Amino acid sequence: MLRIKQTYTHHFDTPVFKKDVTVHTGLFIDNEFVDATDQTPIEVIDPATGKIITGVAGATKPDVDKAVASAQKAYDTTWGLKVPGVERAKLLHKLADLWEAHLDELAAIEAIDDGKQFLVAKSYELLNGLSTLRYYAGFADKIFGKTIETDPTKLVYTLHEPIGVVGAIIPWNYPLMIMAWKLGPALATGNCVILKPSEITPLGALKVAELVREAGFPPGVVSVLPGLGAAAGQALIDHPAVRKISFTGSVATGRRVLAASGATNLKRITLELGGKGPNVVFDDADIEQAVKWTAMGIFTHAGQMCIAGSRIFVQEGIYDVFVQHLVAVAKSMQPGSGFETDIMTKVDPVVSQSQLERILGYIRSGQQEGATVLAGGTQVGETGFFLQPTLFGDVRPEMKIVREEIFGPVGVVIKFRDEAELVAMANASDYGLAACVHTRDLERATRMARALEAGSVYINSMALPDCRVAFGGYKMSGIGKDLGEYALEGYTNVKAVHVNIGQKL
Ligand code: NAD
Repeated sequence: MLRIKQTYTHHFDTPVFKKDVTVHTGLFIDNEFVDATDQTPIEVIDPATGKIITGVAGATKPDVDKAVASAQKAYDTTWGLKVPGVERAKLLHKLADLWEAHLDELAAIEAIDDGKQFLVAKSYELLNGLSTLRYYAGFADKIFGKTIETDPTKLVYTLHEPIGVVGAIIPWNYPLMIMAWKLGPALATGNCVILKPSEITPLGALKVAELVREAGFPPGVVSVLPGLGAAAGQALIDHPAVRKISFTGSVATGRRVLAASGATNLKRITLELGGKGPNVVFDDADIEQAVKWTAMGIFTHAGQMCIAGSRIFVQEGIYDVFVQHLVAVAKSMQPGSGFETDIMTKVDPVVSQSQLERILGYIRSGQQEGATVLAGGTQVGETGFFLQPTLFGDVRPEMKIVREEIFGPVGVVIKFRDEAELVAMANASDYGLAACVHTRDLERATRMARALEAGSVYINSMALPDCRVAFGGYKMSGIGKDLGEYALEGYTNVKAVHVNIGQKL
């Protein structure tokens, strides 16, 4: 059995990054890296090679109990209502500074942990995470309620108070960006956070834990517990002292979070779940731009994006020429190892063997149900978990590949006649996370933005979340919002205070 060592050092010697990077492999509780109660390691596999790179500790219930006790103590003594916002702001800014100083190291860890291109991780994911930390640092001393006029003999005001111990459970596709989406608003508002990264990608979160300690957060304010969903995750969502779960992941696990809340202490929840985003191209679109955005919208990070534009609707007048160009782009993309210099033409590996098999299963089901493979459709090479960018045509609404989230580099192309037909087809989905519309007609663009059932609509681009803008789904894509000012509501209780200023009995 793989032995867990205290630290893991990766020797990077690539065209874009050369350095040794060391990561602690224990659980981060009370500002220390400690062994897990259960010694079974969580194996971390590099998706580009398929090889195990290290083992990390895996938390189980006793470790979760320990972290919750540490967080509760911090909340009651050194954090929560005890610390003014200006202090929380300072610490978050310090964390952001350290994040920025370690941008390259964090990007390199992401590359071996989840297979993303180093240059993409650095220029998009980690910068998004950095802006998120700074954005919420700015809010930390601007959390306030209202005075409400009711009666001349009363002073009534509201306070926005932290909720307490928050469990943050995150997926493997953009681990550090989503970690920042959780830490930023939760800490700015004075909560303590126990973060459980995905068992598939624990390394980045463990590196950030080091930065949290260096930034000077008191022990217990942030804990990082790598571990299996069924063990660490379940113990966290079942814990009666955890007052809120902020979850990003699949609908199936989201349902468990909801159920656990109902079965325990009715903890608050935010759910950021899956998607099956429509990417709509109208006849009047700038075809060259629309092809590029569409390809990026489905093939970036091998399609492992909740906001992927995986249902590609193309109006009949440009259908043939658009599809011809899109297929050419798909066919031109080559597997990329994570440390390429030419990132635009490279496709990342998918994250794991089981994910690869799951996606191949969807491709087979598309073929069996009679769809036509326009590009790709197979695994590439025998090293790592690479798939060819894949496009299907001749699909019907009832096919699995049209209805279900594949979470891989697989798009379905669907022809439509007019706006009415498009809106009906695009909205015929249980999901409603993000939609993209390509058109030169501003009136049509805004009409579509109203008509499409999605938490975010992007006109003439792919879906790209911004930390200043609310992000979250309609329908089964989620409950509540990450990002923007809206996210702060998810991490605060509103207390109404009624002061009698003169009414005598
Ligand atoms: P997942 O639901 O399998 O896992 C997400 C997290 O939940 C992991 O940390 C996992 O360990 C944990 N988990 C699993 N079982 C659990 C349990 N019983 N109790 C508590 N926690 C448990 O999802 P994934 O495969 O990691 O990620 C892919 C999914 O995430 C896709 O559906 C994707 O669309 C979605 N996603 C959504 C967003 C968004 O912001 N809406 C962003 C990224 C990914």
